Amino acid sequence: MKKTRQSNKEPLESWMMETFDYVIVGAGSAGCVLANRLGEDPSISICVLEAGPRDWHPYIHLPAGFIKTFHMRSINWAYQQEVGPWTGGRSIYAPRGKTLGGSSSINGHIYNRGQRQDFDTWAQMGNRGWSYSDVLPHFKRLERRIGEGDDEYRGREGSLTVTTMDWKDPLCEAFMAGAISLGIPRNPDYNGAIQEGVSYAQRTIRNGLRVSAAKAFLHPASKRGNVHVRTHAHATQIIFEGKRAVGVRYIKGGRNGAPMEVRAGREVILSGGSYNSPQLLQLSGVGSTELLRSHGIEVHHALPGVGEGLQDHYAPRTVARVKNIKTINQLRQGWHLWVEALKWAITRRGLLSLSPTMVYCFWHSGETTESSDLQLTFTPASYKEGVQGQLENEPGMTVASWQQRPESRGYVRIRSADPFQAPIIQTNYLVAELDRRVVVAGMKLARRLLKSEPLAPYYDYEDFPGDQVRSDDEFLDAATKRGTTTFHPGCTCRMGPADSTWAVVDDQLRVHGLQGLRVIDASIMPRMISANLNASTLMIADKASDLIRGKSLSS
Ligand SMILES: Cc1cc2nc3c(=O)[nH]c(=O)nc-3n(C[C@H](O)[C@H](O)[C@H](O)COP(=O)(O)OP(=O)(O)OC[C@H]3O[C@@H](n4cnc5c(N)ncnc54)[C@H](O)[C@@H]3O)c2cc1C
Repeated sequence: MKKTRQSNKEPLESWMMETFDYVIVGAGSAGCVLANRLGEDPSISICVLEAGPRDWHPYIHLPAGFIKTFHMRSINWAYQQEVGPWTGGRSIYAPRGKTLGGSSSINGHIYNRGQRQDFDTWAQMGNRGWSYSDVLPHFKRLERRIGEGDDEYRGREGSLTVTTMDWKDPLCEAFMAGAISLGIPRNPDYNGAIQEGVSYAQRTIRNGLRVSAAKAFLHPASKRGNVHVRTHAHATQIIFEGKRAVGVRYIKGGRNGAPMEVRAGREVILSGGSYNSPQLLQLSGVGSTELLRSHGIEVHHALPGVGEGLQDHYAPRTVARVKNIKTINQLRQGWHLWVEALKWAITRRGLLSLSPTMVYCFWHSGETTESSDLQLTFTPASYKEGVQGQLENEPGMTVASWQQRPESRGYVRIRSADPFQAPIIQTNYLVAELDRRVVVAGMKLARRLLKSEPLAPYYDYEDFPGDQVRSDDEFLDAATKRGTTTFHPGCTCRMGPADSTWAVVDDQLRVHGLQGLRVIDASIMPRMISANLNASTLMIADKASDLIRGKSLSS
């Protein structure tokens, strides 16, 4: 469909308006899966709008490139969070992918699904079809697991390759032996029947290269001809006719670029991620009346839950200095790096094929805890100020520890009606008393692990928080001074029944009270899960594609 050109002066782009069956905003983890699945039907046309560029940059694909893309503004929204009541006066940095693949193109490659009870809880909150037994077939369908795993839980024929870390580092081995010495069992597959235990991390890496959602799902779909991807296309508003979403306005090429519109014959799907999907709803007049009016935005549909309920994992990183062995901090210096670069070029192995975390450990904070509520990661490296952007020069090893199912909740709210202005992100880390207790328990366990007998030959001293920190209050103080995000924001457009005040979408992921509009990404999680979020976000999109098409895996 073409719009009539109003005048000769009107830019050519602004009057060329096309109609597709589906318009997807955001080519991130969820958007890529949706484009692929919906595009399986050649009679369906799909337009994907992505604010960032194509994913050509080599650092996206090189696993160790993580450390570079972490701050690379050309492909990263590089948000800054508000100072929280328990962040020691700090504004915590929040990277987000802004390229094809979204955050899956800059993430730490970890593949971690979460526990059975996470999804059973979603179902208990009134969301039919989202229990563990409902979502497991979608995890399986997406995945091409290479390595250990029971086929009852693992998929072998999907597009997302999942391998296990193959760098056998003496420090990682000693860390795992240390965990076992403390009674934490070795678990061959934390994505299987039971999560608890310690093991090398499972990663979305194939032949030494990142498997982003774009690589696994979007690029193959684009070749089919019915999936049209627009990059540098920043969505600024959803177009409504009455209560029905019928299209999206966007600016091509950044703030001063060309205004464009695209129409959706069937549905508009928001997959902009946990910060940007609620932002776009609010900019479009969907959200809390008070918030919208305060920014002079006309209320199109009052929905107080939009942007509210933000959850994330908060991780202090315990660092020890290392002796008698080289850590990654040294291996990436001087000639070592050249050797590693050559090794990667020839074998796709070695230092440059590594992810920021190498060993995963799931355990519980107390003997009466129902299932593991602590997630700990080990890396034979250490970072400046404990943030994963820059390695230290001195030899170091790090244990990050976080509470898996925090209770604290925050929000994402527009700062102004300007679609190019970053939203206000307030995560409210550690506001709930339980969260503070579990985070302190995690730090204490991190210390015990680093001081365990098998690590003794390498353990020099604790650099952070340091041996002077002993009481719970001192640990908590240290946590507030150096904890960071683990990059897992979710729950800002929560799925729940229409009669709940907080729900934004129903269990088909349709926005309550509107037609032709769904939100499909990490923001729909009603409650934080016991995992990094990429795997479950891909699962959400895979399941949603069936909901849209009226299919079920068994049909
Ligand atoms: C640094 C980092 C490390 C991480 N490490 C891991 C890990 O190791 N394992 C793991 O499981 N998870 C990890 N995560 C989290 C995981 O990658 C995300 O939870 C997941 O990718 C979220 O998927 P999504 O589809 O919700 O959003 P995203 O993948 O972020 O996609 C949103 C997309 O929408 C686009 N977009 C947003 N607004 C607009 C707009 N207005 N117009 C057009 N396009 C728009 C964005 O540019 C982006 O491409 C990490 C994340 C980060 C940032």
